[in-house]
Amino acid sequence: MSVEKLIEEVILQKKISHSHDYDPILLERMLFKISKRWIAGYSNTDAIAEARKSNQNGMSAIINYLGEVNTERYQIDNSVSEYFTLLDLLKAKNVSGSISVKPTQIGLSVGYDICLENFTKISEKAKQSGHFMWIDIESSNFVEDTLSIYLEILRKNRDTGVAIQSYLRRSHSDLLHLMENSANLRIVKGAYSEEKHEAYKSNNEITQNFSKLMKLVFKESSYKGIVAIATHDSKLVNEALSLSTKGSERMKNLQFQLLKGVRDELKQQLVKKGYEVLEYIPYGEKWLQYSLRRIRERKRNIFLLARSLIES
Ligand SMILES: Cc1cc2nc3c(=O)[nH]c(=O)nc-3n(C[C@H](O)[C@H](O)[C@H](O)COP(=O)(O)OP(=O)(O)OC[C@H]3O[C@@H](n4cnc5c(N)ncnc54)[C@H](O)[C@@H]3O)c2cc1C
Repeated sequence: MSVEKLIEEVILQKKISHSHDYDPILLERMLFKISKRWIAGYSNTDAIAEARKSNQNGMSAIINYLGEVNTERYQIDNSVSEYFTLLDLLKAKNVSGSISVKPTQIGLSVGYDICLENFTKISEKAKQSGHFMWIDIESSNFVEDTLSIYLEILRKNRDTGVAIQSYLRRSHSDLLHLMENSANLRIVKGAYSEEKHEAYKSNNEITQNFSKLMKLVFKESSYKGIVAIATHDSKLVNEALSLSTKGSERMKNLQFQLLKGVRDELKQQLVKKGYEVLEYIPYGEKWLQYSLRRIRERKRNIFLLARSLIES
């Protein structure tokens, strides 16, 4: 059953069992309470507070202002200015953190040039304030433009990186091209629904390709760019740990990136072993869509959601 269907059924049950109509504001409040596990809250001050907690737990933060596929000019401009504010706050509050921006949030669904212009502005601001800028990667129809924009940005600011998805068949050749440019890389499995000719479909294939991509980068033990392993999969994390260690030497520039609210115990194990761990912290008004994605990823989360909704 889809998460949306589940929520619909619970609401229906509640309507039947209550004499009055079920209150949608109450439902939103309940969902927000559950979602707080994965998101910081509505505002940039919530995000900064959560980033500070990551710092206290030995991690740096990667903050993402939620939103994608913006087509209205005011939405795009608002998102750019939100990242400016966030960078100012990170600096003013002395928080160790970076930002992660989705291309379609700042114009890629409208056009290449507007997106490049906005990434240039945010990247310059990030450089001034001394923070790293990550570029999230979205569905396959945006990948070509995103990588091309990234390489243009990278020429002017080395403190920028891009994600690459192991479920995409094209990622092997994209990775080789990015490596020629000593790009800073975040390897992820991929979060969008893709056609079979574009993407591997089975967990097995996606995991195998993740390993293949890691091996490609780790083979170059003196690789200059950052290599961020962004997964909660213990098998892949362990493989990264052994591939990146040659004798007693650890690969420099290796990072582990994990999402807020997922596998906190693994984060602490890695911190204790002395690895650089970054926690990805989303926030903003678009929290519901993001949280549903997290819930969908794990059957157990769907049961937890159902139980909380039924018991409330
Ligand atoms: C920092 C970061 C940035 C990302 N950026 C992008 C991006 O730019 N573009 C994009 O498409 N995707 C991105 N993603 C999302 C990614 O593509 C996956 O959808 C998401 O990370 C889930 O995949 P996974 O690798 O954790 O593996 P999964 O296959 O979801 O999980 C693997 C295993 O991890 C363990 N596990 C997972 N969740 C839990 C849990 N809650 N508790 C206990 N064990 C658990 C289980 O053993 C599970 O079998 C990002 C992910 C991270 C962590």
